[in-house]
Amino acid sequence: SDPLLTPEKLPEDSDRALRPQSLGEFVGQAEARANLAVFVESARRRGEAMDHTLFHGPPGLGKTTLAQIMARELGVGFRMTSGPVLAKPGDLAAILTNLEPRDVLFIDEIHRLSPVVEEVLYPAMEDFALDLVIGEGPAARTVRIDLQPFTLVGATTRLGLLTTPLRDRFGIPTRLSFYTEDELFLIVARGARLLGVEADEGGCREIARRARGTPRIAGRLLRRVVDFAVVEAGGKVSRALADRALTRLGVDHLGLDGGDRRYLTLIAENYGGGPVGVETLSAALSEARDAIEEVIEPYLLQQGLILRTPRGRMLGAKAWRHLGLEAPKGPGQ
Ligand code: ADP
Repeated sequence: SDPLLTPEKLPEDSDRALRPQSLGEFVGQAEARANLAVFVESARRRGEAMDHTLFHGPPGLGKTTLAQIMARELGVGFRMTSGPVLAKPGDLAAILTNLEPRDVLFIDEIHRLSPVVEEVLYPAMEDFALDLVIGEGPAARTVRIDLQPFTLVGATTRLGLLTTPLRDRFGIPTRLSFYTEDELFLIVARGARLLGVEADEGGCREIARRARGTPRIAGRLLRRVVDFAVVEAGGKVSRALADRALTRLGVDHLGLDGGDRRYLTLIAENYGGGPVGVETLSAALSEARDAIEEVIEPYLLQQGLILRTPRGRMLGAKAWRHLGLEAPKGPGQ
């Protein structure tokens, strides 16, 4: 779908400049932040590795950022990898045996670990140990190697795809949710400051309102609006400039992009507003079911634009209004 609005990481997102460096600088997710502050402080005082932590929620909400902040505030090293990258048990073993005491190991997309790699993780998380099988056949035996104590931070967009044994080994499961417009406003205003751009309150608010509840998208929209401001408005981001730029970029007033609108229009025009199953939508839109469930739907659900029913997805009244279409009259409408 539209690269401007996808909450997933893109190669050109060089967001290092905008990444908050401490829990204090991190805006939003108040409950998660307050709890993490306690767990970090406790681990520091005890001089122990912090408990394993699992972040779950839609892409672009700050899972990686929080993991990095935890390592910094704990005063330990940070290692980062991801489920699909760890192809063989040896790949994970090599990382684990190289950790310094109390390091944070971040595994993104942890629901995509292969079962054999996941097996390596169980004793590592539970006992800080690695069980190596030496030799083959009847002569094979297991040797246990001690690891340094470490903190595993896992991130996933699909909590439901995690196996129970893996999920149970995280002491601190933390759910991240979409940001409010006010929180995104603070993030955009801070971003503009860090980029050295003149942006007034109306300009920042317009970007925040259209960022799909997602800091990654807010950062991306800000950069694009700044491009327009530099070329067309003497570098100043005002509400009118932001509105004009975002409309030209195909971002509507709810922050929906072409892909979202195609999804909503399909349900409205081809299925009378639903209910319609996700497999049907996946085929009709030529989008992977995963992408529909993880990327497109969470925000539409949160906004009440669609509803999830036992028989499939249905359009909410707000979606009919947004599309400028009349909802069909009938039972339940
Ligand atoms: P995730 O790992 O959940 O996909 P990231 O941690 O990579 O998300 O965050 C995506 C982008 O959004 C990064 O550029 C990060 O700097 C920014 N970001 C995330 N959360 C916040 C926040 N609370 N305040 C400011 N910027 C944030």
